[in-house]
Amino acid sequence: MTATERVEVVVVGGGPAGAALAAHLARAGREVVVLERAPRWRWRAGGVFASPAAVAALGRTGLDEATVRAVARPIPAMRVETPRGATFRLTYGADEGGEPAVGFDRSRLDPALLELAGEAGADVRPGVAVVEASLDVGELTTRGPDGTLARLRASVIVGADGLRSVVARAAAVARPARLAPRVALTFHLEDPEPVAPRDARMCVLRDGYVGIAPVPGGRVNVGIVLGGTWRPALAANGAEAVARSIVEAIPPTADDPAAWRFGRRCDSIAGAWPLGHRVTRRAGATGQRGQGWLLIGDAAGFLDPFTGEGLHRALASAELAARAISVDGSRRHEALAAYDRAMQRRFLAKDAVSWLVQAFLARPQLFEYAARRVASRASVRATMGLVMGDLVPAGRALDPRYLAALLAP
Ligand SMILES: Cc1cc2nc3c(=O)[nH]c(=O)nc-3n(C[C@H](O)[C@H](O)[C@H](O)COP(=O)(O)OP(=O)(O)OC[C@H]3O[C@@H](n4cnc5c(N)ncnc54)[C@H](O)[C@@H]3O)c2cc1C
Repeated sequence: MTATERVEVVVVGGGPAGAALAAHLARAGREVVVLERAPRWRWRAGGVFASPAAVAALGRTGLDEATVRAVARPIPAMRVETPRGATFRLTYGADEGGEPAVGFDRSRLDPALLELAGEAGADVRPGVAVVEASLDVGELTTRGPDGTLARLRASVIVGADGLRSVVARAAAVARPARLAPRVALTFHLEDPEPVAPRDARMCVLRDGYVGIAPVPGGRVNVGIVLGGTWRPALAANGAEAVARSIVEAIPPTADDPAAWRFGRRCDSIAGAWPLGHRVTRRAGATGQRGQGWLLIGDAAGFLDPFTGEGLHRALASAELAARAISVDGSRRHEALAAYDRAMQRRFLAKDAVSWLVQAFLARPQLFEYAARRVASRASVRATMGLVMGDLVPAGRALDPRYLAALLAP
């Protein structure tokens, strides 16, 4: 073990949340170290579809327009399809002149964000994993690329380390999601007919769903989420066979011949199980002046990808966290508590909407009924798209008048 190193801020995890926070902080002149377990980028279970709100947040991290254009493929709409044939398109405000949603190439987005952080002055350390966190003394034990253990002390420790956050566990705030355990399988397929622009598709299955999002480079991203009733099939046939049978059963549509169903798989199937977790708090102060911890991105809680916006939340939480960390000395403890409250305020209504959608998904007949109503009601659909895309306050979808307009026969 080497001598203990001391830094001002350490960010555990160099995914979109951690890299964006490091870029914000370094640009503001803060000393910040990013520890990223992976020596180089690799495909992990995660998402690519994002609303214009996420693209705007990306711009605020400082990523230039040309890079955003290169890593994002515009998507006119998300088409939701039920098992019994109801279909509706959510355009996220694009049909009223707004920017379109996008499908990200994560193999270029994630490294671009880390590079941005490095250029802004952050000390980015790939291949360094945090193996233990002692938040009461602000200390991390890390394992470097050659296996060497080291100690690092920081005034602020940020958990940006995803669904199974070491920092959230050390803070004793990590809890299982209040949703039946589900498994996620994600990968990319080559698209032999990369017609642009093309809608993304969200096909609801019995006890699960599959999302298809076009991404740059003539590929589509496939994200499959399956409930417990799929467990015997997964155990008997394996993830690859189950994924292939689900994808091949997706029907072609008038504007999507769906040739990608039989395209070459570009990466290994990345899985996540159990999907989702929650935290009881997203920040805390530790003993001394200005010392504390925060959680951002998926580490701060993640329910389910159906309602999307994990990437937007990652970037938005990084912005809020940067503000809290920039407060110095004894006032920082109050800023950390304010960060926790701000995150709750910002996402409480959207979380309630996500729970409502989950409640419908769990009752196929109810989901079918609601989907048919959404398909036939333009204004209901427009509001739903704006809420799902974080373009208007999510509380609008919880308004009894909206729910009545949605559900009335
Ligand atoms: C199946 C699926 C589909 C999804 N679909 C969508 C979608 O369509 N749209 C959307 O917006 N979101 C989607 N999401 C969510 C989205 O992928 C996440 O919200 C987003 O990646 C969060 O970014 P993050 O930086 O918080 O976490 P991550 O991207 O998970 O990054 C965390 C980083 O921390 C590193 N790390 C972990 N532990 C350690 C450690 N101990 N030490 C050092 N480093 C560590 C990891 O290597 C990783 O690089 C989906 C998620 C899943 C699972």
